[in-house]
Amino acid sequence: MRSLWHNCGVSSAKNRQNRKDRSTRRRGASRILSVRSHVVPSLEALIGYDEAFYEQMNRIDLRLGLKATRINTEKRSVEATRSKDNSTETLGYDTLVLTTGARPSTVPVPGSDLRGVFTIRTINDVERLTNHLAESNAKRVAIVGAGLTGSEMAEALLQRGMAVLEAEIVPEILPVILDPDMASIIRARAEEHGVEYHLNSILEEIVGRNGRVSGIRISGDEYPVDAVIVAVRVKPNTELAKEAGIVLGESGGIKTDERMATSAANVYAAGDCIETYDRITRRHVFFQLATTAVRQALVAGINAAGGKTKYPGSTGVTTVKLFGLEVASFGPTTMVSEKLGMHPVSVRVTGSTRLPYYPGGKDLTVKLLADPKDGRLLGAQLVGEEGATLRANLASMAGHLGLSVEEFEQIETCYSPPLAPVWDPVTIAAQALLRKLQTSQAAKSRPVTTVEN
Ligand SMILES: Cc1cc2nc3c(=O)[nH]c(=O)nc-3n(C[C@H](O)[C@H](O)[C@H](O)COP(=O)(O)OP(=O)(O)OC[C@H]3O[C@@H](n4cnc5c(N)ncnc54)[C@H](O)[C@@H]3O)c2cc1C
Repeated sequence: MRSLWHNCGVSSAKNRQNRKDRSTRRRGASRILSVRSHVVPSLEALIGYDEAFYEQMNRIDLRLGLKATRINTEKRSVEATRSKDNSTETLGYDTLVLTTGARPSTVPVPGSDLRGVFTIRTINDVERLTNHLAESNAKRVAIVGAGLTGSEMAEALLQRGMAVLEAEIVPEILPVILDPDMASIIRARAEEHGVEYHLNSILEEIVGRNGRVSGIRISGDEYPVDAVIVAVRVKPNTELAKEAGIVLGESGGIKTDERMATSAANVYAAGDCIETYDRITRRHVFFQLATTAVRQALVAGINAAGGKTKYPGSTGVTTVKLFGLEVASFGPTTMVSEKLGMHPVSVRVTGSTRLPYYPGGKDLTVKLLADPKDGRLLGAQLVGEEGATLRANLASMAGHLGLSVEEFEQIETCYSPPLAPVWDPVTIAAQALLRKLQTSQAAKSRPVTTVEN
């Protein structure tokens, strides 16, 4: 039997590389920023599983430092190069799982190749940034892009005593997961902590002196900085698949079916390199979330090993903690819904996470979106000092199941004074949204009255 070689750049194996191979290790990316801010004691603490976990406990033949360079789907083989001596080998497979992930984009402006310009994806990236900040006695850092990574970086750097300037091309931060009226709550908090935002701003140049970053020019103005972090978007790593003739989707990620099977026989794919079925918008999109990746990888692995299971799609439910606020959402923003022709109806309410008489309750702002055509819950966005994440999971479950706002509003939630109010802020928001939907439907069905003189 030919050797079964799962994953060239792949799921669990690749994600748990040892110390000498940290350049390719991505496991724990979500925790990298915690190290940057000193919440986690060391980069090493991020490594969830050592080699023994793979090799001894799970009988996985872990090949670190081996780069897949070519897939031959006819011969069912993968060519690979060892990083230590550039030697090559060819590995046969019965089934193959591609989890080559994604890589951060750079910015096409003058100075983007200067020393002191960074992207953040791997533990090595964080090490390089940390070393640069120490060596250059950095005081001021610019971050380009105020999405999830840029925002987490801003907080981590502030906690390290840096001054932070954050440039964003659109008018509000976190545009992928929140509407502007929700994101502005976080921005206000971040500004209180000292982040200097330049919204609606275009990065024109990274300015250098003696080959190193000395400043940044945004929308005509120059600001002195010691380092620049580019956190604009990530791109799926699809070159291997593309060269092997594997079909990519319209969005540019590897196309798979529900079994995570690609267009090539016996080749599966999962994670950041593929496009994911969005259960809410019913399109294929890039979610690029660890939660999505691990579920897809599980399905791909089961099917690759001869099982039969399906990945049902994702709602894109996401959470992040920023400046003491829990931020969570699922579903498309209002702008994306509008672009897709869904013209959502929405409400925004602020409730408390406990009854007013019980000490310790925190404000929680909830925004819900619905499709006026069928009353379906399209999305939820939550921001508050506590309680956003699990409520987003509850709302996301409703979205996953395709529930209407009316059905979602009827789901009873638990109550106890120290833990949860009788009427949860999410339920209050759903009740308000239901009334709004009913009012808008009633207005549409009302006969038109013409007034004659
Ligand atoms: C800073 C940061 C914070 C994040 N925080 C969160 C979070 O809080 N929650 C969340 O859900 N998601 C988060 N994410 C996203 C999450 O990390 C990714 O969605 C997830 O890692 C995707 O897993 P993957 O296995 O598809 O890709 P990756 O983790 O990128 O793994 C791909 C691997 O393949 C290797 N590889 C690529 N090409 C080859 C090749 N030719 N040969 C051999 N190996 C190859 C790469 O070196 C890499 O190790 C975060 C991402 C970043 C960057």
